[in-house]
Amino acid sequence: MQTSFEALQLKNELIKGLKAQNIVKPTAVQALTYSAFLEGKDLIVESHTGSGKTLAFLLPLFTKINLAEKSNQALILAPTHELAHQIHEQIKLLAKNSEMPITSTILMGEMNIEKQIDKLKNKPHILVGSPGRILDLISKKKINVTTLETVILDEADNLLESTQSGTVKKLLHQIGHHVQVTLFSASMSDKVCKLAQPFLNEPTLLQTASKTEVNPLISHLYLKTEGRDKFENLKKLLQTTNTQKALVFVSQHTDTKVLVEKLNYHGFTVATISGKLSKEERKNALAKFKSGKVKVLLSSDLSARGLDVAHITHIIHYDLALTPQDYLHRAGRSARNGEKGTSISLITPKDLGMIRVLERTFQIKLEEIILVKGRIKNLATNAFLEPMVSSTLVEEKPSTKKRNKYPKGFTSDSGKKTKNKQQNTEEPKRTSKKVITKKLSQSASDDFLSGSLADALKLIEEAGWDE
Ligand code: AMP
Repeated sequence: MQTSFEALQLKNELIKGLKAQNIVKPTAVQALTYSAFLEGKDLIVESHTGSGKTLAFLLPLFTKINLAEKSNQALILAPTHELAHQIHEQIKLLAKNSEMPITSTILMGEMNIEKQIDKLKNKPHILVGSPGRILDLISKKKINVTTLETVILDEADNLLESTQSGTVKKLLHQIGHHVQVTLFSASMSDKVCKLAQPFLNEPTLLQTASKTEVNPLISHLYLKTEGRDKFENLKKLLQTTNTQKALVFVSQHTDTKVLVEKLNYHGFTVATISGKLSKEERKNALAKFKSGKVKVLLSSDLSARGLDVAHITHIIHYDLALTPQDYLHRAGRSARNGEKGTSISLITPKDLGMIRVLERTFQIKLEEIILVKGRIKNLATNAFLEPMVSSTLVEEKPSTKKRNKYPKGFTSDSGKKTKNKQQNTEEPKRTSKKVITKKLSQSASDDFLSGSLADALKLIEEAGWDE
């Protein structure tokens, strides 16, 4: 495999543009994909989270685009607004840094369609967006499909296994002529390949590992808890790890509003992202988290796909992921770009079977931790985990004031009503700041990945309640 951009024969201006972003060497998936993409093959590409898949499709796309033509040449489909936005920003940055006049526009639902139609009049080379809005604009004849040559499905398994799959198929059907179709994800399965089969032409499967893998830079821990003690344990984990950027995943059944209020009360700065919030609210929450203004982002699985926020040290599964696929993508929000990450699952007795399924599916070890006098002890190694130390980030110091658990009117997870005064703001009041120093075989695990939730539950049952 080629290990330099020069050996891959990237254009000089692209190499220069990448250098400006401190990117000097291709990642494995970039080296694997570049030539095959430019040969015009339909591709199914699988590589673990944080491994540089976005540039793996943008680099050959930048080379493929005919700059002499001002026309819609490529579609990039993404499942969420946040991800589409991230890809669009990456295109703009690379175009600017490489001084290549490649243009892009973002086409998502929830955005003003008239403004999008106006932008389409400039005939941008790349259209990034959701299948629904793009299909709508194609039907309205605002996108000239005759000039399209490439379609990229980012987080392809998600697009093809979700309600968006029918739209993706209609969209590809509407294009009506042969285009190169490439699929990218950290988790491809036989099921996804079969779903994609009708619109792929003799696809080539490219994988950076022999099977679906979780980013090897992530360590996996779990803490046993009773349901009523979950919040208390979350709080202790956040305090003990001293994390400067933690992404906490909750299921749709958890009342995030109450969780945020409790966290605020205990001096943590928190923002939330869920499908129930507007695009603007989600954008603001993400901006605060990226900038470090809040150090905890509480999120539904909406943030699990493709989001690239630098320096997330900890992923905490307040509610365990429903499927191994969800776990892989959630955990993969940490350990980006060669950094290390820690994924900690808070598990109640009913979740133990899933821990074993995750271990079997990904051939990883999830190690049990316990909290001992404000420290985290790994029961597998008997070692204590060191809290995070950062030289650049600002830490919110826990309040020293004696407090009676939760704000007035709130019921704690243990069911007790509390009497304290409510503090409901995003920024805690009682804090002082100080600056401190990754197939398709028929193995049981792959069956699991390609299966439905019902299959998942069956496997969990088989895994047993043996602890
Ligand atoms: P992705 O998996 O595409 O979300 O990329 C993960 C992170 O790795 C992003 O922050 C990229 O900017 C960064 N990245 C992508 N390719 C490279 C590379 N060849 N060298 C260093 N960093 C990279």
